[in-house]
Amino acid sequence: MRTIIYTDEILEEALNLGRKYLHEGAVADYIPELAKVNANKVAISVIEDGNLKSIGDSKVRFSIQSIVKVILYSLAMKNYKVAELKKYVGVRPSAKPFNSVIELELSEKRIPVNPFINAGAIIIVAILYNVYREKTFDVILEKTSEFLGEEVDYSREIAQSEKESSFTNRTLIYLMLAKGLLPSDTKVEEVLDTYFKACSILVNTENLAHMSYVISNDGIDLEGKEIITPREARVLRSLMATCGTYDYSGDFAIRVGLPAKSGVGGGIVTASKNKTGLAVYAPRLDKHGNSYSGVRMLEFLSNELDLSIY
Ligand code: GLN
Repeated sequence: MRTIIYTDEILEEALNLGRKYLHEGAVADYIPELAKVNANKVAISVIEDGNLKSIGDSKVRFSIQSIVKVILYSLAMKNYKVAELKKYVGVRPSAKPFNSVIELELSEKRIPVNPFINAGAIIIVAILYNVYREKTFDVILEKTSEFLGEEVDYSREIAQSEKESSFTNRTLIYLMLAKGLLPSDTKVEEVLDTYFKACSILVNTENLAHMSYVISNDGIDLEGKEIITPREARVLRSLMATCGTYDYSGDFAIRVGLPAKSGVGGGIVTASKNKTGLAVYAPRLDKHGNSYSGVRMLEFLSNELDLSIY
């Protein structure tokens, strides 16, 4: 039997540290609906030895946002080899903010540098739309529920708010159309709507700990069901390590040392190779779009428990 490393005391200390930083950073307000969240929430959920353990506001639901990009790429890998996908989206770290237009303009062959920035995720949705057509969002929601260990739904309000404030995402998709990266008959509205709905799926840290467990356990969930293959899990962990916190990924590697994916809803899901799960939540973000308290809580846990893979 492995010794429990996530003791109540350690989790409590981490949460207290997270609370101390709650006033730092700012909630995302470029999507007006996200500005309405209660910014004082903070939570940690872990899965260890098959048991879920949480502290703080672990039942509070928030939008998954960019964390869903991991799931979108996993669905793309079910249909295409990574080598094929690389004609449309790279696997290179980004050096600019997650919605940067200039990075797309300047990238090699003008393809999005990776699937975890907005341009990259939007093109992945366009690729999925070609496969699943009007069923695309249902397929995404079903796969997301599998990753999260629970049937989930999306927030109509947040999806609508994303749509109404989607100026930059529209710029990105039109630029990809202009460059011929997407065919001219691409169903722009359908693709964007699907992307907005996917980002608006509601989750809590317990769900994200389950997702973390699946990716950390080579694709097998708590019930023993294969959600993704071991190779797909390895690709996701690699991309999370190099691209998961955008242009902060180098800093994150030094501070925390775990593959991870953040979202502007305030969640961070990590991955390891330890058959454990670890996820955090706190809505205020640093300037890169990563949960401010969340990063600090993970840094604390990583230092205390020697979690860094590097
Ligand atoms: N829905 C958000 C957007 O399109 C996702 C961004 C994020 O979480 N980094 O901007």
